[in-house]
Amino acid sequence: MAYLGNLSCRDCGLTFTARWGSSRGADEYRCENDHCFDVDAVTGAFLGGSAATSGRYTLAEVFGRCPICSTELASGRLPCCPVCSGRDHDVSVGGVVG
Ligand SMILES: [Zn+2]
Ligand SMILES: [Zn+2]
Repeated sequence: MAYLGNLSCRDCGLTFTARWGSSRGADEYRCENDHCFDVDAVTGAFLGGSAATSGRYTLAEVFGRCPICSTELASGRLPCCPVCSGRDHDVSVGGVVG
């Protein structure tokens, strides 16, 4: 399930609107630099995210690491703050999308 809402950064105080979460049949993975990918929940194939990676890789092939910057991928991460790159936020969910 994907969410749309406001995130308030606990590090710098910025409040920003973001979308995060999984699509139908896909899990959202983010690396430490906030590259974001939709990964097929069954096959592990990269679906969306950057056009350069879509359909080219599976999670196993990249050893769970970002194909762009090689940092570790994880599901369930919140988007990072556009100002300070912090990832510790107060979450205010405004709605559910998809
Ligand atoms: Zn911040
Ligand atoms: Zn990355």
